[in-house]
Order: sequence, then structure tokens, then C-alpha cells
Amino acid sequence: MRLPYFQYHSPRSLKAAFMLLKKIDGKGLIMAGGTELLNRMKFRLIEPEHIISLSIIKNLGNISIRENQEIEIGTMAKLTDIAHFFEEIKPYKALHEAAYQVASMQIRNMATIGGNIFQDTRCMFYNRSRDWQRVVPPCHKRGGNICHAIKNSKRCLAVYQGDMAPILIALKAKAVFYTPDVFYEMPVEEVFSGNSREPFITGDKKILTSINLAPPERNLFSTYRKYRIRDGVDFPLAGIAVALHKDGDTVANLRLCLTGVAPQPVIVRDVENIANGTKLTEKIIKEIAEMAYNAAHPVANLEDTPDNRRFMVRQIAYDLLMEAIHVSR
Ligand SMILES: Cc1cc2nc3c(=O)[nH]c(=O)nc-3n(C[C@H](O)[C@H](O)[C@H](O)COP(=O)(O)OP(=O)(O)OC[C@H]3O[C@@H](n4cnc5c(N)ncnc54)[C@H](O)[C@@H]3O)c2cc1C
Repeated sequence: MRLPYFQYHSPRSLKAAFMLLKKIDGKGLIMAGGTELLNRMKFRLIEPEHIISLSIIKNLGNISIRENQEIEIGTMAKLTDIAHFFEEIKPYKALHEAAYQVASMQIRNMATIGGNIFQDTRCMFYNRSRDWQRVVPPCHKRGGNICHAIKNSKRCLAVYQGDMAPILIALKAKAVFYTPDVFYEMPVEEVFSGNSREPFITGDKKILTSINLAPPERNLFSTYRKYRIRDGVDFPLAGIAVALHKDGDTVANLRLCLTGVAPQPVIVRDVENIANGTKLTEKIIKEIAEMAYNAAHPVANLEDTPDNRRFMVRQIAYDLLMEAIHVSR
């Protein structure tokens, strides 16, 4: 498949990238590793006139531990490097697991954390060839007013399937953005709009520079698992991230976040009300797994049925939390 025509820019500084983005005013996009963006262009889902690559801007791919032990992951850090870096940092083991489960080794060697977070929502009636687009009426995401998945839906139901955002959200990571005057940060969860057509509140005109994590705490256990048809390459049909802070044998804080089941990562609300301050028993874990099941609202727009995907959310949440009990003992 050929790419459409576009102008390629490779600025040397963040300021130059920002100014270019402003100048082209909505007619171009930032490119990191290109593994998602160029695919969308080949499928003619988007045809930006300009591409602004961040690839030669210095230091954006670093992963570093600051003096205060906070960890900074540069937006251009490759998923392969993230998987290696966090393998030995046990409280953040889930970042190793999530990065390692993205796509294939070749893609992880190119793909970045920034691009992973800002990937578009997907749907099997949208991520299709040009031939398909020619014969099928445009859906909400292609500027039409119908949904091929749920016939009378008034809105787009394309799904966010990123693997990294749910664990970053469970870990309360911060996203740092650049403007010429100031770097400003916001919790990763606030980056998402919940609107499948325009999934990010930051739009196309913001440049993520890094993800910041609190210093790793010894009482933190984190894990991520995804359900997919094939073990290699596939996007999550459902994914569950867990961040569990313990205080001895009891739960100090528990956060669960899902992916692949809605237009944005879904935090399972209120689990802390039943988990915090208790010892995790199988009974409580079953209750939490049920809450995860109820928080997931998949529709028939990915490869597996919504029922199966919801079932897998409950099952994986149960499995991960049962494993967490044993790790904590
Ligand atoms: C076969 C295949 C399988 C895949 N499987 C998975 C999977 O299992 N799980 C998964 O999560 N993903 C998967 N992907 C999607 C994609 O490869 C990854 O999400 C990857 O991490 C994207 O990173 P990138 O650097 O290549 O992003 P790019 O393609 O460069 O960019 C993606 C988007 O992010 C925006 N962007 C990039 N950097 C910034 C920044 N600093 N600031 C603002 N916006 C930015 C771009 O404008 C673009 O819209 C798969 C892709 C393919 C082709």
C-alpha cells in the first residue's frame, strides 16, 4: 500500500516543532515511530498535508530516574526500551508487561510511548481499505451519520485499544506537554475525551514530551494482562491493569483500569471502597471482578463478541487479583 503525498518536516527542537504545528494549523500531524500514523495514512483514513517528525529532537527518548527518585519516560522512548527498563523495577513491573505485549518485536523497536498513548480509536467497520470505504456509506468516524456496529447509534463507538495508557492511569502517571512558555502536566486519565471521533482533549496541536511516575514504592504491586486472539501482534480485545498498594497484609489502595472496552480507558470506580483497609479474600476479589465486568461496555465492533470480551474482563481481573494475594504473602 502506498502513502499519500505529504510534506515531511524534521525540526531540531521542541520549539521549532511547536511553531510548525501552529503554522500549518490543523493540516498536519506529529509523528513519533510512525507505526500507527503511517498505517492510517496508507488506508486513507487520514491524509495530512504535513508530517512533523520528532525523531531528531535530542533527549526525547530518554528514560531517567531523577534525584527525588521520580521516573521520567521521554515521549520518544521505544516500547522495547521501556520493557527492558522496567523489568527490574518490581513495583512498576506492569509497564514491562504492557510494553512487552504490544504488537510484535519489530513494531516495539519503532513504537514510542507517546504514539502508543495517542493512537486513534479503532473499529472493524472503520479500519478498512479504500475499496471498502468506496462501497460502504461513511460512518460517524468518517464524517457520516451512521454506525455500522450498532445501527441506530447516534454516536461513534470506536474503541480505544492502547496497551500502555491503562497501567499509566492505574499508577497515576502524569503527562507533560510543551508550550514555548511552559511545560505543563496533567494526569494521563485526563488526556482522554471519551469521544471516539476525537479521543483526546489535547487535540492535534499539543506535543507530549514525557510521562512522569512517582518514585517506586516497595509496597506497590502492579500488573497488566490482555485478552487477544493471537499471542503475538494483536491489539487488546480487553486489557486489565492493576495497581495495588499494600500495608502489610491489608490493601492500602487498589486501582483497576480497563482498555479495549470503550472509547477511552475505563477506571473501575469504587473498588477502593470495598478493597481498601481489608485483606483481599477470594470473596472480595470476586466482587471486584464483577465490578470490572460491569464497568466494561464492549459492542460488536472488534474481532470477538461483546459477551466474550466482558467475560474475559471478569476472568482476568479475578486471576490478576488472586495472583496479587500470593505475591503479597
Ligand atoms: C500490526 C500492528 C499491531 C499493533 N498492535 C498494538 C497492540 O497490541 N497494542 C497497542 O497499544 N498498539 C498496537 N499497535 C499500534 C501502534 O503500533 C502502537 O500503539 C505504537 O506504540 C504507536 O507508537 P508510534 O510511536 O509508532 O506512534 P505514531 O504512529 O508515530 O503516532 C501515533 C499517534 O500519536 C500521535 N503522537 C505521537 N507522538 C506524539 C507526541 N509526542 N505528542 C502528541 N501526539 C503524538 C501522532 O500524531 C499519531 O496520531 C499496533 C500497530 C500495528 C501496525
